[in-house]
Amino acid sequence: MESYKIDSGIARQHVDVPNLSPEFHIVEAKRKTYENLEEHMFDTRLRDSPLVVAGGLSVGLFNKLRPFLKQATLFKDEYLYQQDGQIECIFFPETAVISEFQTLADGRTIEVAVTGGEGAVGISSVWSSSHAVNCAQVCVAGSAYKIESKILEKEIDISRPLQTWLHNQINSYIKQISQKVICNTHHAVEERFCTWLLMLQDRSKRNKFNLTQEYIAGVLGVYRPSVTCMAKSLRQKNAIDYIRGQIFITDRQKLKKMSCSCYSELVPNL
Ligand SMILES: [Zn+2]
Repeated sequence: MESYKIDSGIARQHVDVPNLSPEFHIVEAKRKTYENLEEHMFDTRLRDSPLVVAGGLSVGLFNKLRPFLKQATLFKDEYLYQQDGQIECIFFPETAVISEFQTLADGRTIEVAVTGGEGAVGISSVWSSSHAVNCAQVCVAGSAYKIESKILEKEIDISRPLQTWLHNQINSYIKQISQKVICNTHHAVEERFCTWLLMLQDRSKRNKFNLTQEYIAGVLGVYRPSVTCMAKSLRQKNAIDYIRGQIFITDRQKLKKMSCSCYSELVPNL
């Protein structure tokens, strides 16, 4: 995991852009540095792993379902389900990361689960006609596979390994939601923010995220000024950096030290 670390000092390199303000020079230097590094830092374990292809499926199970799977490109902020909406398809993220939210009476939102390649989204619809409990939205754009709920249901009916997979998925989902309850109730917002960023990084294998402060406030269930203060504080500690709706993890180890104990409980099995 050390490979995530970026030497933030490189980000201060000067890029020669004539006739523009000094601030623009710095912003452009950061953008070019981080964008170049991201390709090299991208960890391809998920693609190369013989154990997991997408959605927590082993190669064997993936191949079994392959005739029924459709590839999908998921775009940032795209909704897969609305709260109480019908679930037609189950998604198996590959490089995409999906957040599930609950909306409070006053309109604020809070994230209750985050899923990447280690899990599937929408499994509550298997053997049930129940509607989506949570709203599901794409947090990190990327690739995924999807399958009609009814087809997956039939395949699970006749496959013991798929039944085991579903059982494991439900257990992991319950574990994550239980941990989130503890986290959202007992841990400080900055700790939760650090944990969440690490969870995104583990699942997406990226150092750079397109995240506005408003979106982060919606994830953590806080008001935007709190996010502004936290982001500033973490930048001063050289753990993250940010420009124009983008956040960069510049020192993963620092983030780990500042995260809450939930992080170690929620490391995905990838
Ligand atoms: Zn926590």
